[in-house]
Amino acid sequence: MVVAEPAGRPTTDAKGREFDRLAALGHLDILDTPRDEGLERVVRLIKQVFSIEIGIVSLVDAHRQWYKACSGLSADEVPRKETFCRYVVVAEEPLVVHDATKDARFSQHPAVAGPEHVRFYAGVPLKTRDGHTVGTVCAIDRAPRQFTETDLAILMELAGVAMDRIDLLRSAATDGLTGTLTRRAFREEADKLISLAVRHQHDLSCIVLDVDHFKRVNDTHGHAAGDEVLKAVASICQSNLRASDLFGRLGGEEFAVMLPHVDATGALTAAEKLRAAIAAQTIHGEFGQLAVTASFGTAALSANSRNNATLLAQADAAMYLAKAGGRNRCVEWSSLEAGYPLGPRQRVLKAGTILFDDRHSRIDCTIRSLGADGAAVTVSNSAGIPPELVLVVAGDGFETKCQVVARDRQNLELAFG
Ligand code: GH3
Ligand code: MG
Ligand code: MG
Repeated sequence: MVVAEPAGRPTTDAKGREFDRLAALGHLDILDTPRDEGLERVVRLIKQVFSIEIGIVSLVDAHRQWYKACSGLSADEVPRKETFCRYVVVAEEPLVVHDATKDARFSQHPAVAGPEHVRFYAGVPLKTRDGHTVGTVCAIDRAPRQFTETDLAILMELAGVAMDRIDLLRSAATDGLTGTLTRRAFREEADKLISLAVRHQHDLSCIVLDVDHFKRVNDTHGHAAGDEVLKAVASICQSNLRASDLFGRLGGEEFAVMLPHVDATGALTAAEKLRAAIAAQTIHGEFGQLAVTASFGTAALSANSRNNATLLAQADAAMYLAKAGGRNRCVEWSSLEAGYPLGPRQRVLKAGTILFDDRHSRIDCTIRSLGADGAAVTVSNSAGIPPELVLVVAGDGFETKCQVVARDRQNLELAFG
């Protein structure tokens, strides 16, 4: 399907706006955070107020539209290129399509021509206080319909409510489901622990863990069962950690631990203890009983990794290796085994492009962390991306050859050179 690129501002201006927009989205630090009941309520309201089938609150990063809250569709995200919402993000204005079959931009779109049978779309920008369109709020239906000025005004009010809620979520210290620290709070506390360890020259280690095949748990037993599993995993971890350890939820089914005064060997031992405890537990609930496993990556503070972003990137890379090695195992980050040192990293949110097949193939990506010797990027689907590629960092006018050091379904850990 060919859809014309959204018409917009002059190129340089549009590029600058997009760069700033992504920085604002990065600052919100909301991508891939857990479900929030307040935003679920907003999407339910959209459906009720307009008597419509689908309501969405979404964030749009460089390569995808991610549904922070969605009712009426089963997907969590869609590639940005395939969305109606990209027009809203570029124009920074509402878009109403009464009947998509009669709109040349959308009539051949898979969601219109295919089984989703989308006909009506109304989307408004989700704007930060300083005016950056970080996402959209939309009302979608499977039949053509009208949308009055009053309807549009209501949808914009709901987008305001959603943004207020997102602002409020930023200050939450604990995660509503598991009671553990939120990603943001975890990072803040981890920063303090790392500063102390560096100043007093004591050991500190980090563990990242991700539940294995968690999507299957949701698909087989339902979302509520998935939630019970997450609560159980968090509780097993907490009861097997020391009071001085810091434990937090980084995303859906991903958790992290900072262990002060623990070296690389100690971290691997601690991770192994958590792994065994999770694998040994049977989780009971209305769904019956089930068992899960998790994959672990560990990394220790060193001259090379004196900040959170670097330590987490190393533990993440090790965790992807644990997944690749068969799951339900612990892998320690080691630059010798990985074949390259993962040096200092900064957390960023930037647009990138991955080129391969002699630059004939290109895939949009979002760059999550960046350093002098490598980057962590996210794509919609990493299958088919070869081990060697070129990464273009759009806003910086920078490109480099890279090797894929570790990967999972959507994340790539890249080494430059
Ligand atoms: P892998 O072993 O490679 O980690 O596979 P996976 O299935 O665990 O990983 P994937 O990233 O494909 O799926 C994670 C799923 O977790 C998808 C998402 O819908 C679900 N999820 C994220 N947050 C929550 C939550 O708060 N509750 C529930 N029930 N599911 C969640
Ligand atoms: Mg998982
Ligand atoms: Mg995961």
